[in-house]
Amino acid sequence: MSQPPLPQTGTCRCGAVEIEVSAQPLMTAACHCRGCQKMSASAFSLTAMIPSAGFKVTKGTPVKGGLQGPQLDHFCCPECKSWMFTRITGLPDFVNVRPTLFEDLSWATPFIETMTSAKLNWVNLPVEHSFDGFPPVEDYMALITAYSAAHTRA
Ligand SMILES: [Zn+2]
Ligand SMILES: [Zn+2]
Repeated sequence: MSQPPLPQTGTCRCGAVEIEVSAQPLMTAACHCRGCQKMSASAFSLTAMIPSAGFKVTKGTPVKGGLQGPQLDHFCCPECKSWMFTRITGLPDFVNVRPTLFEDLSWATPFIETMTSAKLNWVNLPVEHSFDGFPPVEDYMALITAYSAAHTRA
């Protein structure tokens, strides 16, 4: 599978907010939880876990949206309200970025899917790992290592 050319610039629907990613994702995921269904207005959300040092907002000032705190904060464009990225409380090392903000989506195939207990029955994603809920925290390191091994450029 391919990795994104870096840096990548992403924009919200209206262009008022731009983000830049200059690090390879730690992992990609799809989430089928009810919250993601509602926020994405679709069957599931997509995430690229980006190391915080490789993520910045380069234009505009995102505002908090969705369900706000205490476990996580969702950030949206203040103008068009596009859901752009999520920061998880207590896990400052990475940002969960919505890969659909970027032009090139060839690298954004989800590696894992979470909350399949809420998955719509017609959805069938080409993932490597499925979880009824969310993977235990202690499993994340192994998943990230497996993702990296599968995506290292030859
Ligand atoms: Zn916008
Ligand atoms: Zn979710």
